[in-house]
Amino acid sequence: MNNIVAIVGRPNVGKSTLFNRLIQRREAIVDSVSGVTRDRNYGKSEWNGKEFSVIDTGGYVRGSDDVFEGEIRKQVELAIDEADVIIFVVDVEEGITPMDETVAKLLRKVTKPVLLAVNKVDNAMREKDAIEFYNLGLGDYFTFASISGSGTGDLLDALIDAFPEKPVVEVTEELPRFAVVGRPNAGKSSFINALIGQDRYIVTDIAGTTRDAIDTKFDRFGFEFNLVDTAGIRRKAKVKEDLEFYSVMRSVRAIEHADICILVIDATRGFEGQDQSIFWLAEKNRKGVVILVNKWDLVEKDTMSTRDYEEKIKKELMPFTDVPILFVSALTKQRLLKALEATVQVFENRKQRIATSKFNEYMLKVIEAYPPPATKGKYVKIKYCMQLPTLTPQFVFFANMPQYVKEPYKRYLENKIRENWDFAGVPIDIYIREK
Ligand code: GDP
Repeated sequence: MNNIVAIVGRPNVGKSTLFNRLIQRREAIVDSVSGVTRDRNYGKSEWNGKEFSVIDTGGYVRGSDDVFEGEIRKQVELAIDEADVIIFVVDVEEGITPMDETVAKLLRKVTKPVLLAVNKVDNAMREKDAIEFYNLGLGDYFTFASISGSGTGDLLDALIDAFPEKPVVEVTEELPRFAVVGRPNAGKSSFINALIGQDRYIVTDIAGTTRDAIDTKFDRFGFEFNLVDTAGIRRKAKVKEDLEFYSVMRSVRAIEHADICILVIDATRGFEGQDQSIFWLAEKNRKGVVILVNKWDLVEKDTMSTRDYEEKIKKELMPFTDVPILFVSALTKQRLLKALEATVQVFENRKQRIATSKFNEYMLKVIEAYPPPATKGKYVKIKYCMQLPTLTPQFVFFANMPQYVKEPYKRYLENKIRENWDFAGVPIDIYIREK
């Protein structure tokens, strides 16, 4: 599992610029595949061959100028809970502000590595000015300029060094890992309790790959799997959880650790922005997804049918709409086993391997029926294709001029794959390569 890095600091110190710089290269790759812009506050980065996840805490604050100190404090506390390493960004132009001191005070108590990063240091004079930041009591600092990128290399080297050594966990069994995610009060705990019932059904608590990700082995009704929980999710937050930030950030670790995400939404509230952010998070990490519309017992069935509701949700999921949506009630236990079955099915879908001969037989016909449109009078020919031996479904199509195969055509190929094979709930990658 990836290490998680949180970027904290008061508004306008350059957190987002640093964040964008860190995720830039990776994002370019991801986006060219999916063709969709996603959550701008969470991304993957890589340095010296080490991949990690980055969260820009500031990105979740609305109207950054009138942010209250309390808001920042909550974010820093959450970052401390959820991240492995924290980058605290300050601004040499402004010097130490009272809000910086508040943040520093919180961070001084932390046992996790904190990197103090002084932004906008782009000349020798400012290098001298930066000395003042020793007063924050966080020890040595790094200077950088997020706009030009100078200094970020050293910062990244230090970041990689600061990552905790993760214990190597021996995989003794290949049980699917399910994470139950969603907004606060959607009914996640109720769902888990309804399934697990009393404690005797919990077989073991296995400490996962990190000290705070817990796999609970579940063995009931003929299903065997691990429920991924994290310390952060298990513990009810002490603060009012009304910000998108909380539910998303709390979900990051669980999602990254899981194979399949069970996204619980509240039927009485509908599919909201936060639900969408969590959905993108799962999709971006190439996890399987099942959506449970919970509290269905509270919905007046005359006014809203499951089909209408499903249509509404699917509009929000575009373009990845091939996702199972089930209408459940943790309270009345309606369709809970169906929900589990659907989740197991998604796990199977994600694992499935299509024989190359079968794949070619079907796809080459599909391509012949509707070939890639000609570009500048050139015709693209696809002669061969296959599924890659990867953990998540990825397909490669070999073409004479791959650069002329555009996103809509890839979408067409993906739809055809989904029509013929069951990949419901599973993100798919399509690559076009030169043959
Ligand atoms: P969590 O924060 O996502 O874990 O949500 P909880 O499981 O704590 O549930 C939040 C509230 O919704 C609690 O008061 C539950 O009793 C209630 N609740 C959960 N599931 C259902 C349901 O299916 N139907 C109804 N009517 N209430 C539910």
